[in-house]
Amino acid sequence: MDYTVVVAGGGPAGAVTALRLARAGTRVLVVDREQPRRVEAAEIMSPEGRTILENEDLWERMPLDLTWPCSVMAAAWDGPEPEWTVFTLHASGPAWHVDRARFDLWLRDRLRQEGVDVARGSVERVDRTDDGWQVEVADDAEGSRRAVDARCLVVATGRTSRRVRLAPRRRIDNLCLVTGTTDPDPVEPDALIVEAVADGWWYSAPLLNGRLFSGWMTDFSLVSDGRYEDAARRSLAGAPIHARRVGNPRLDAIIGSATWVTSPAAGPGWIAIGDAALARDPIGGDGLTSALRSACHGADVVLRALGGDDEAWSRAAIELEAIARRYEKQRLDLYRRAARRWPDARFWRRFVDERSGPTRTDRPAVDPIGRPQK
Ligand SMILES: Cc1cc2nc3c(=O)[nH]c(=O)nc-3n(C[C@H](O)[C@H](O)[C@H](O)COP(=O)(O)OP(=O)(O)OC[C@H]3O[C@@H](n4cnc5c(N)ncnc54)[C@H](O)[C@@H]3O)c2cc1C
Repeated sequence: MDYTVVVAGGGPAGAVTALRLARAGTRVLVVDREQPRRVEAAEIMSPEGRTILENEDLWERMPLDLTWPCSVMAAAWDGPEPEWTVFTLHASGPAWHVDRARFDLWLRDRLRQEGVDVARGSVERVDRTDDGWQVEVADDAEGSRRAVDARCLVVATGRTSRRVRLAPRRRIDNLCLVTGTTDPDPVEPDALIVEAVADGWWYSAPLLNGRLFSGWMTDFSLVSDGRYEDAARRSLAGAPIHARRVGNPRLDAIIGSATWVTSPAAGPGWIAIGDAALARDPIGGDGLTSALRSACHGADVVLRALGGDDEAWSRAAIELEAIARRYEKQRLDLYRRAARRWPDARFWRRFVDERSGPTRTDRPAVDPIGRPQK
């Protein structure tokens, strides 16, 4: 057996799980494509994220300029007037702006420094064997492929990857994000501001390079004619706070941000963590923290299973399903609060309509119970 555990994907979830496993004496390989992020979006980590990084002995080691405090947030959600939250008054401290591209690179460097094998490449395929998994890794730069054996597999490939899908994924919505940047806000330079509008919601926050990021989250069906820039500018005209704050932003890209649930998210010999298990709606601002939390949980499940607890995988699947159901309900409740303001608007109607459930289920590449799919 080459490794005890292969972790497919070395984003925050995969990196923290691998670190925890390696520190417990497990032989781990992390495989990550190490591709630059397609779009630079502002990301804010909740205060709990810092606590997790502290507990994992990472926060103190991190270069200071990977994160900086976000001390103020405003949300015009239930009504047109923004409600302000001053994080510095919270016992748990501020939220944190995160330079995601460099944060992810630093985490993978940390893995290497602690002796974890990190392979640059893409997991193309996973197959069950008699005693675990065979993982096919493609090195895109060299054009080579190799097969790696492992007893357990952790799927940490994030929101979009289709290659390593061991169970069906339920899509809960069809959200997409139109991203843009503009000059910094001289009044509230550090604030995260969220504003619901008739056709979605806007948010804005500073980037490390000093520019102000602005994003319009909407339903893909509202921009599927490809003219997302025109649609975003029309939407901005109905967003008074953002019209003032971001003015006339340079619109850069449109990216899929659908909310997904993998179910089951664990089975014999494998577990999905982070966005690969539950890709959350950015409205909660808790994707990163949840990915870190789920990474710790995932590592503990693997360690229990390796220690002889045969029920660890099935218990994890039940726990993860319960987490996803709770999350779906909380999120729906949140959207319904804003939906009251525009009950007839296309974007909000689907959150009010009880029947608007999952829109699509993807077939897995491998049967979660163990048989390869034909
Ligand atoms: C538009 C947007 C805004 C967001 N804003 C926030 C925010 O403000 N606050 C917040 O907390 N969260 C936010 N999130 C969510 C947050 O980005 C994610 O929850 C977090 O990145 C999840 O971490 P992860 O490690 O699970 O996945 P990822 O960060 O996606 O990492 C997955 C890794 O796997 C690699 N990979 C994928 N497939 C393969 C493969 N086949 N082989 C090898 N490697 C592979 C990728 O290269 C990547 O490095 C936002 C998300 C979106 C889409």
